[in-house]
Amino acid sequence: MRPFVYNALPGRVVFGNGTLSKLPEEVKRIGCSKALVLTTPQQTKEGENARALLGDLAVGVSNSATMHTPVDVTEKAVELATKLGADCLVAIGGGSTTGLAKAIALRTDLPQIVVPTTYAGSETTPIIGQTESGYKTTQKSLKVLPEVIIYDVSLTLTLPPKLVVTSGINAIAHAVEALYSQDSNPMIDNLAEQGISKIARSLPTIVSSPDDLEARSDALFGAWACGTCLGAVGMALHHKLCHTLGGSFDLPHSETHTVVLPHAMAYNAPYASEAMNTIARALGVDKAGKSAALGIFELIQSLGGPLSLKELGMREEDLDRAADIAAGSPYPNPAPLEREKLRKLLGDAWAGKRPE
Ligand code: NAD
Repeated sequence: MRPFVYNALPGRVVFGNGTLSKLPEEVKRIGCSKALVLTTPQQTKEGENARALLGDLAVGVSNSATMHTPVDVTEKAVELATKLGADCLVAIGGGSTTGLAKAIALRTDLPQIVVPTTYAGSETTPIIGQTESGYKTTQKSLKVLPEVIIYDVSLTLTLPPKLVVTSGINAIAHAVEALYSQDSNPMIDNLAEQGISKIARSLPTIVSSPDDLEARSDALFGAWACGTCLGAVGMALHHKLCHTLGGSFDLPHSETHTVVLPHAMAYNAPYASEAMNTIARALGVDKAGKSAALGIFELIQSLGGPLSLKELGMREEDLDRAADIAAGSPYPNPAPLEREKLRKLLGDAWAGKRPE
């Protein structure tokens, strides 16, 4: 018998190709008629398309979303939403755009419809990270959980292969840590295995044939599955390390996840053998007798993804401070958190060493 506790989160998911066309009926379905569309400067065209599609159901577009959800950007967007009398938010973009919608929802309780265009998975979680005066803090609140997610595969066709790889590995990281989470449960285990398998098998096809709609669809489905794992159970060492490296050393989000994941897995492997077997099976490396950590490392390598913190711009002299921060505040993790071992992990990730 395996006893467990599972907290299901509310939310409506509309998945398909061309599903953005359902945006007006989804806005009406939640009883709204004055949507503020959010996006980044880079995706202004997508934001304007959504506004045109909504017609009279839209009151404006803000393309102010940016990395790390800075509080000053959020405050300006809240002012705009209030001035325009917005009664809901429509976010089109990656985790940064979803972050802006969540930050506005936290302050106003406006309902959110999120249209994700990367595999980051923020749309499925009640978690929000915000930055003020250089500090990133994270909190959990059902207020920030989007009411509706519209996954439209066609909107991911423009995601460049480089970002496909790092964003895909970012998603896999959620499922990996869900499998050895202290809150793990059979429902989320199944989603995690399915998510890893879908993403790991679709990334090579997307990189070689970027217009392959079936592979793009599998990757987006996998992102939803992995994101659901992130929203449902607590994460561990890998996410804490990436949070430290992103927050204190300004390293880029999905690239950092990509470099760190094989090393965090190797660190935890002796204490999480069942999870590692599941991951190896999902990656299809179990029959070759390879470890799950090596399977991920070789997948990233074969796709031309980043393998070292050095290539992301981290300085070697910052590794000690990163190890101090990572070992400083305790959190649940399968393997004990020991400062010297964490320093070695970071050193290996910095150099891009092949995990054993
Ligand atoms: P991002 O949202 O910053 O996107 C990166 C860039 O790619 C942006 O310029 C964006 O406009 C562009 N882009 C996005 N989709 C595109 C597409 N289909 N075609 C072309 N360009 C596209 O990056 P991300 O990795 O999606 O999100 C990272 C952020 O999300 C981080 O701040 C992270 O902390 C946050 N996040 C939060 C949670 C959570 O649960 N709160 C979960 C995951 C990530």
